[in-house]
Amino acid sequence: MTSPTPSRRPEGRRDYVKTITSYLGNEMRRISFERSLRSRSCVHSIDERPEPSVLSCSGCDREGTTWVKLRMCLTCGAVGCCDTSVGRHAVGHFESTGHPVMRSIEPNDTWGWCYVGEAYLVLGGAAGAGADR
Ligand SMILES: [Zn+2]
Ligand SMILES: [Zn+2]
Ligand SMILES: [Zn+2]
Repeated sequence: MTSPTPSRRPEGRRDYVKTITSYLGNEMRRISFERSLRSRSCVHSIDERPEPSVLSCSGCDREGTTWVKLRMCLTCGAVGCCDTSVGRHAVGHFESTGHPVMRSIEPNDTWGWCYVGEAYLVLGGAAGAGADR
């Protein structure tokens, strides 16, 4: 006959549990903090650049407003106007579709913007590398 496992817990077990619980608590806080940072950073790139099919803002065409600069959605290719324009149709497009990334289609502009990560994207480079606002 084998002797049953003693049910009495070893000394110090409670302290051990307390230590590990507080360690895990700190670890969980650290992870969720890092996760909250990560959700604001961007995983997108603007290296794949479909060419815009039109060079006008369809929202402005419809509403009779004038755009200042044009942006293009990288998800569907829709062209909308920038935040300086009256219609702000580029951000309006994001708000109505959830398409996260646009890029400027102004000549010589090589940057984009991720609405979700709130990050500047530069062509062939890392996010937020000091692009010209
Ligand atoms: Zn992004
Ligand atoms: Zn517009
Ligand atoms: Zn789109």
